[in-house]
Parts: sequence; structure tokens; C-alpha cells
Amino acid sequence: MGIAIQLPDGNVLEYEQPVSAGKVAEDISPGLARAAVAAVVDGTAVDLATAMGEGTHRLQILTARDDASLEILRHTTAHVMAMAVRRLYGPKVQYSIGPALVDDFQYGFYYDFDLPEPISSEDLPKIQAEMAKIVAEDLPLTRVELSVEEARTRFADLGQDYKIEMIDDLVANEGVDTVSLYEQGDFTDLCRGPHLPSTRKVGKAFKLLSVAGAYWRGDESRKMLTRVYGVAFFDKKDLAAHLERIEQARKRDHRVLGKQLGLFMISDDVGPGLPLWLPKGTIIRMELEGWLRAELLKRGYQAVITPHIGKIDLYRTSGHYPYYEHGLFPTMETGQDAGYLLKPMNCPHHIQIYKVEQRSYRDLPVRLSEFGTVYRFEQSGELSGLIRVRGFTQDDAHIFCTPEQLAAEIESCVDLTCYVLQTLELTDYRVRIGLRDPDSEKYIGSAENWDLAEDNIRGVVRKLGMDYTEEPGEAAFYGPKIDFVVTDCIGREWQLGTIQVDYNLPERFGLEYVGADNAVHRPVMVHRAPLGSPERFIGILIEHFGGAFPVWLSPVQVAVLPVSEKTAEYAEKVADAARQAGLRVELDSGADKIGARIRRWTMQKVPALFVVGAREAEAGTVAVRVRGRGEAGAFPLAEAVAALVREAATRGTKKAFPVEEG
Ligand SMILES: [Zn+2]
Ligand SMILES: [Zn+2]
Repeated sequence: MGIAIQLPDGNVLEYEQPVSAGKVAEDISPGLARAAVAAVVDGTAVDLATAMGEGTHRLQILTARDDASLEILRHTTAHVMAMAVRRLYGPKVQYSIGPALVDDFQYGFYYDFDLPEPISSEDLPKIQAEMAKIVAEDLPLTRVELSVEEARTRFADLGQDYKIEMIDDLVANEGVDTVSLYEQGDFTDLCRGPHLPSTRKVGKAFKLLSVAGAYWRGDESRKMLTRVYGVAFFDKKDLAAHLERIEQARKRDHRVLGKQLGLFMISDDVGPGLPLWLPKGTIIRMELEGWLRAELLKRGYQAVITPHIGKIDLYRTSGHYPYYEHGLFPTMETGQDAGYLLKPMNCPHHIQIYKVEQRSYRDLPVRLSEFGTVYRFEQSGELSGLIRVRGFTQDDAHIFCTPEQLAAEIESCVDLTCYVLQTLELTDYRVRIGLRDPDSEKYIGSAENWDLAEDNIRGVVRKLGMDYTEEPGEAAFYGPKIDFVVTDCIGREWQLGTIQVDYNLPERFGLEYVGADNAVHRPVMVHRAPLGSPERFIGILIEHFGGAFPVWLSPVQVAVLPVSEKTAEYAEKVADAARQAGLRVELDSGADKIGARIRRWTMQKVPALFVVGAREAEAGTVAVRVRGRGEAGAFPLAEAVAALVREAATRGTKKAFPVEEG
């Protein structure tokens, strides 16, 4: 017998005695040993110190270059932070959980503490400095296996009640009789690992970011703990780039910009998650919806309007009730009918409209569209500005077609969605196909129908040559779907437009059409929403554009600013000319200096400012300042107005005042 270690390159190393991954790394090369952070043995991530015994093992040494290493680095950094907090705030500090995060846009790890005194973000530099000391001390991280009893005693001695509770849970839920601990210096944590071999390997590219409250176990009836967030990388350049991205996101936060630009509000008196559109935000929304309505008419859709509520039995037939029950506002009892629901979806209403008359194959496809507002009772903790709300509109439509027409209809929905995204300057997107999870019970309809629908969708996406991924379990409960996942200008992904194929609701509602053969057939339905929801979409657009909307969507398209009172009259003439041409204009003859007024309207992210002084008044021109670029020069009034009108009408394809950046 012996030990055979298979390396990723196919080489096999033989050993007589149990050997650690770290020793194998040394035997391969000193460089690899220095770069090693952890290892994967037979598919499981482990510490470098983990010994491999008798038999054959597959071994991969992880270095900073491997994606899996980042989580290990961040988790180790969380341990270092907990140790630092304990050193600074004393042995009364209790530490509960401290996971690494790898998919979060902002944070890379956190730790929840029960502290003897409150801390704030002002304390973070001090903690960070202590962490740097611990890193410099080069303390090895050692794994120890203890019996449950020994571990309980150990954490009792350390005054760590949360750890004891976690051990009890491990015993209750997983039936363990031993647990693993990690030690570095005098700090001990309950942990599965793996970890970096020493604190020095954490390096210098970490930063603590914020302090927040978090209930123990996320349970509002338990104690509120202090959560400290941070992030860590192997490379300082990566950290700097990450901090820059966070800063960009902070500046673009749609809740902040929404307030600053007067776009929307959430009123406690109306209710959380129920946005109110202010006049300027309403302009953006009306422009967006008006454009889409016109486009839909061109593409053969018919507009309909349906009520915000419906009888509960309607949703029983559709399957939305009870499927969606937990996400719904409570039922309205009227005493006469079985009760009403605020509609969670528009589909059952549109289905009634389809059924209003006998349909022939000659009528199909029937495409019914509506900006229909729906209501879902999201948890209050989940609500966020316009992105997660309780009442929102869908740019919804339902297409009823023959099975033969289906592929062409899906294709045209894909085309519409691409057109919408590109017009809105969201050009970086990918396609995700949501399939059913074969093991789940939540889907309605037959397996044959599902196979058919999934094949239809795949077929179209392949035919169009689009890159796509398939994700089982991501389908709607009535059918598979195509989602467009958009990357915004700072690299965040958002799920936007969706197209869903549905053989099931037509069956549940007994939909029919008379075919060319004079027999009765069942149509197929397509549900689709290129924006998804205007509320959420505009929230994302605010962040994508950083509030600087293209001219056609800008609530104020031009601000006219007289240099002094002397040109106030001419300024009025300028504003009037712009208004008559259909532009949205603000005239600011305020008492403050021209510089202050320029700043004010620049802060409001108005795309163009027309500044008029004596020279302009005399020449019949305007001095144009373009958002983000500065002075563009003087233009004859009519020309400047026409250029802006043209930019709005072409939705940015033709720029009004092309000037050099700078
Ligand atoms: Zn840990
Ligand atoms: Zn629908």
C-alpha cells in the first residue's frame, strides 16, 4: 500500500507516510508553497495542513488565482476581525457568526458581535489597525477536533453563549458528536473551515466598511447584535477598484437621487412599498410608457384596461391562489361573494377578454397589452425604494396564438425586448432560460406541455444565436421563461425583461379557437414584459444613468438662465420658443448670481442650459452648456432648440451638441 497524489496536470506523486497538501506543494516547488492558500482534496476544500492517508487522492493546490480562494481569504479575515474586536473591547465580547460573502456587490464578509459598549463606523479604523497587527504577528490558524462536550466547556470558559447554542443546534440538526474549532493565538472559533494557514496570508488588501444592527438568528424577538461588514482581496488594486465601484453605487443610489431630483417618494401615511410619483418622475414614466405603447401598436398589439381586483375564484382557476397566497394582501370579504383579491397578476383578466367572443384561427395571434398595476405583500425588510415594492405596474401583455405561430411570437418578443434595452442604453445583457425543477410540486400542468414549452423557448434562443444559460427551478409556476439579465454601467446585474410560454392557463380556463379544419383547438399563451415593471425599471435606470437621463426622458430638458435682469425679457422669449417646440423648459431668473444658478441646474442634471447675456440677446443666440461636458458655444436660438428637439425625437441617436469631452 501507499499514498498516491494525483495532480491536476496528470502527474502522480507517491508517498509512504500520510502527507499534507502543504508538504506536497513544497515538493512541487517553493514558489507554489509560498503562493498556496488552501487545497481541494477529492473535491473538498481543506486547509493546507490537512493530511492525506492511505489510498489515491486528487489534489489541487489553491492560490490567489483560483476563484475558490477568495471565500477562504475573506472568512479568515472575518476571524482576524473578531480577534481584533475581542482584543480592543475585552473578554466580554461575544462573537456569533461571521461568514464570507462572495456574490454581494458591496461586502466580502461580516461578523455579528454582542458588545459590552456600542460602536459606530468611527471605531472601524481602530479595529482595522488592530487587525493589521494580528496579520503582522503571523499567527498560524490551527484546526482542532473536539467532542461536543469538550467544545461546550471550552466556549463556556470563553463566555461564548452563542457558540454553545450553535453547538447545540449542530447536535440537534446534524447529530454530530465532534465539532471543529480554529485557533489563532488566544482566539478560538467554532468553524468548519477551511482557512489560510496563517494570519500573515490575509495581507493588506482589506477594509472595514460599515456597522449595522442584526438580530441574532434574524429573529426580531432575539437580541440585536452589532454587525461589522468588511471586504478583502488578495491584491490592493482589486480592493481599490472595488471601493471605487461602491462609491459609484452610493452616488447613484436611486433612493437618494429620487429625492434630490424630485422623482418619487414613499409616504409612511400611504404605506411602505407604495411609491408615489412626483411630477418630475411622472414625466419619465409617461415618456417611457408612451414610447412603449406606440411601439406596441406598431407591432400589432391591442391595448386593454382591467380592474385592480378580481374574485378570488378567478385566481383559484388560474392557480395564483393559493400558490401566491403568502405573497398576497389579505382577501377582501364583501359578504356577498367568496371574496376579492388585489390582483397579483393581470393574466386571468386578459384571459376573460380573450374569451369574450368565439375566436377563429384567422383572429390569432391576439395580443392584449396593458400597463396593469399588481399588488404583492413583500416583507417590509425586503422593501427598497422603487426596486422592491408592494404595488407595481407591469408592462404586461398576453399573446394567444396557435402552436404553429408560437416560435415566431417568442422571437418577436425577444426582438422587442432587445429593442427596448438598447434604446435605453442597456446594451450589456445575457439571456437566462428558467426551466422547471423536476423534483418540485409547485408547477401546474402536464409533463408533455412543459417539455413542449421548454423546447420552444430553447429553439428560438438557439436560432437567434444568443448566449444563454439554463436554470432549473427558475420557471414560473405555469411555464418556462426567458429572462434578460442586464449589467449596468457599474457592473451590477439586474433581471429585467421576461418572456414566458404557457400551455397550462389556456387549459385551466378552457380557452379555444376554431381551426382551419373547423375543429376546436387550444391556443398557447405567451406572457411577456420587456421592462418587467416601470417602477423597478426606472429605479434601475436612475442608477444606470446616475440621474442624468437622456434628453427624451429628462423631466426638464433645458433650463434658460438670463445672466442678469437686463436680459430677462430675452430669456422669456428663449424659453417660450423652446416650449412652443415641445421641450420641457425651466426659466430661472432668480435673484442669485448666474454661477449659482448654473450650479443649481447642473445639480439637477438638466441636459442643456441656455445662458443668455447681452451679447446673445443682441445676436438672437444662446450660449449652450451641455451636461457633463461644459460650454458648447453659442448657437442661433432656432438652431439650438431644433437640435434638442431632434435629440429627444431620436432618443439620443442624434446628439444635439456634439462637443469634445473635457
Ligand atoms: Zn470561521
Ligand atoms: Zn401573465
